[in-house]
Amino acid sequence: MSGPVAGVPLLDIARGNSPLREEFIEALAGVIDSGRFLFGPEVSELEREVARLSQVDHAIGCASGSDALLLALMALDIGPGDEVIVPSFTFFATVSCVTRLGATPVFADINPRTFNIDPAAIAAAITPATRAIIPVHLFGQCAEIDAICRLATQKDIAVVEDAAQAIGAAYHSRAAGSWGQIGCFSFYPTKNLGGMGDGGMLTATDASMAERLRLFAAHGMQPRYHHRVVGINSRLDTFQAAVLGVKMKHLSVAVAARQENAARYTEMFTDAGLDEAVVLPAVDPHAYHVWNQYAIRIEASQRDTLRQHLAADGIGSEVYYPIPVHAQACYASEPWSRVELPETERAAREILNLPIFPELTAEEQERVVASIGSFFAKQNRAAA
Ligand SMILES: *Cc1c(COP(=O)(O)O)cnc(C)c1O
Repeated sequence: MSGPVAGVPLLDIARGNSPLREEFIEALAGVIDSGRFLFGPEVSELEREVARLSQVDHAIGCASGSDALLLALMALDIGPGDEVIVPSFTFFATVSCVTRLGATPVFADINPRTFNIDPAAIAAAITPATRAIIPVHLFGQCAEIDAICRLATQKDIAVVEDAAQAIGAAYHSRAAGSWGQIGCFSFYPTKNLGGMGDGGMLTATDASMAERLRLFAAHGMQPRYHHRVVGINSRLDTFQAAVLGVKMKHLSVAVAARQENAARYTEMFTDAGLDEAVVLPAVDPHAYHVWNQYAIRIEASQRDTLRQHLAADGIGSEVYYPIPVHAQACYASEPWSRVELPETERAAREILNLPIFPELTAEEQERVVASIGSFFAKQNRAAA
């Protein structure tokens, strides 16, 4: 082969969407012709499908994963004086829903092997003011949700699952979003079920909770122009639901491709003798992992130079997340932000996320692994 070696993108959304172009256009044309841009039948159909996939009786569309989290806490009536236990090694929205409502986030450190919130740290953080726990199923792998739910039940605390990255994931064969009182999903384009814009979904096992979530997502209005509670306006629109309905049909194939890619990386890194230079992602034996991210760990002093080396080879990578939420500037003056979370802080310094999207080829994965191999070979030569 001649010519420049093509790079490997972190994510190539167009590669996944282009084979479905005709299906999307047909579905979107149907919405245009119907004129039902809100509350169209595509929305309730998607709600039914997400409910089925998530093994719950109820699913409620909303405008984003961030809104799903906010609505969950609103429906649980969480506010000033209440404490909510959250991880800090997560996307901001897991925590901002708590502070938006005037409640206090209490951070629990993570298990360094899975990056997920540690049940023992949760147990240590519970106080009489604890009203809810928000475990995040990070990177597509469930947190130890059985232990978390046991703790919560004993203390009469609600569990809101942040399953934004984990649609279709499971723990002990029970779906993400079916363990807690409420599950929160995101259809942000990079998620495993990604839309063409923003979108989100709530799941609930209890019918009256589902009704409350729907009420809060519709300005607390019932019947029309009678407002029973102060809610927000948060809807999944019909265009997004139509797009997501098309993608839903292909979700299990896409997830299987992510799982194959993850297994192939692990094999390639091991075969290349790189499984000591980098820490490969650990899979909890009870988890059905859907691999929204493939996260490796690298010694902190080398992480950013490795990223530069990959970038020079045209290989995309990302750091999810470089700054834990408790260390964000907007929370600097909050007394609750002054906590020590050694595993969270170490993960933020060491983590590196590699391309794992479903259409990634084995040949592209070879290039990623070869580039990382050449980085360490160069390091070893420099050290010699
Ligand atoms: C993406 C994400 C959210 C927020 O979802 P949006 O749809 O972007 O608002 C919340 N929590 C986690 C863990 C996420 O990854």
